[in-house]
Amino acid sequence: MGSFRQRLLDEMVDVPTVDCHSHTILRREYEALAAEERDLFTITTYFRRDEGGIVEMGHERSLKGARSDEERWQRLKRIIGRAQNVSYYRHNIATYQGIFDFADDDLTDDNWAALNERIKEWTARPGWYDHVTREKCDLVTQIRNVPWYEDWEPEYFTATLRMEPAIRDGSLLAAEQRAPFEAHMNREFSTVAALKQGLADYVDGYVRRGTIGIKLAHAYNRTLATEDVPEAAVEAIWQRALRGEAPAAADVRAFQDHIIWWLAGLCTDAHLIFQIHTGMQGNWGHIPDSDPLHLLPMIRAHRNTRFDLFHAGYPYGRELGVLGKHYPNVWLNMCWVYIITMAGARQILSEWIDLVPHYRLLGFGSDVNWPEAIYGHLVMARSCIADVLAEKVERDFLSKAAALELARGLMHDSPMEFYGLDATAAQAAAAG
Ligand SMILES: [Zn+2]
Repeated sequence: MGSFRQRLLDEMVDVPTVDCHSHTILRREYEALAAEERDLFTITTYFRRDEGGIVEMGHERSLKGARSDEERWQRLKRIIGRAQNVSYYRHNIATYQGIFDFADDDLTDDNWAALNERIKEWTARPGWYDHVTREKCDLVTQIRNVPWYEDWEPEYFTATLRMEPAIRDGSLLAAEQRAPFEAHMNREFSTVAALKQGLADYVDGYVRRGTIGIKLAHAYNRTLATEDVPEAAVEAIWQRALRGEAPAAADVRAFQDHIIWWLAGLCTDAHLIFQIHTGMQGNWGHIPDSDPLHLLPMIRAHRNTRFDLFHAGYPYGRELGVLGKHYPNVWLNMCWVYIITMAGARQILSEWIDLVPHYRLLGFGSDVNWPEAIYGHLVMARSCIADVLAEKVERDFLSKAAALELARGLMHDSPMEFYGLDATAAQAAAAG
């Protein structure tokens, strides 16, 4: 099993990876950062959430307010002392080892300062951003969440447009959110139909620049359950909002549902992928809201929309596996999962490979801000995938050839086809 596991790892290192979900900082933003914004204490990702809980409950002191690196280390050391077991922390270690040639297996009083200096020095090198994303990670592209009114760097990223601004914080029913969108579109939305036309035109502007889908992460703050609320009901709510009446919570929910349902239809009409965050939230999240099974009525009603469901719906990974099995318009995305839990990632991926045709399995999405952290995540992902496939060959009647094809497919072939990157690559080749 050992040598075949290694062959699988080699296969994944050989094939360029499609990063199926990214929030990576743009190159121009990275290079504009002040030097002190890139060090041992800032280049970290989701461990901040565990850190936040530890600090919030008063167990340890926040790094904020520490006046020197030495003081920051003393505080971080105490936090790590309570939490070095979690995958979010081990992700940092994998990043130090993989990107900064850190030779030890953990931070200590003896090694933190040298690593800190190395991070400061190396991240300031010219060409560092390319070295990490192109040479180390060898990414084909990153499918990046683009916030409203922003652009992206197409040489690194393929865009999907975030649609939360339409439904978040009281939604476009709130004048302070409606006004900037009306100003941007240079028109007034006097009816719900006019609003939806405006949203469709806004999305279309991004599509004409190469955007391949839309994204919602509303499961962080409301339920994924969505009803098909008729336009007439929402029109009355909209008109009251235009008159300046504050909407009731039920009205906001009805408006959000109507827009979300309509977006699912827009994706059919405009041939867009609908990416939806399911599962994992932050501290104090209402976990049942994030259950991907809540999405079933909307998925069933939009058979020609391709849904890209995120984060293995964790902890609802098994439910999501069956959803993927029964609904051929659903793709299952492992983004974020390996740094949430490597053990859970192996378990879920192993079941999904038994359940879902592999062209609908997307093996890796970094879901981090720092390019360095993509690599740490990638190493953890490859390790889990190799474990799962090697075990399937040994015990579950999977052929070696199929396992090698899956390793390649999860990281490259399936996302290339799904996101239409083959066509994009062919166009670029023809143009070049
Ligand atoms: Zn994300």
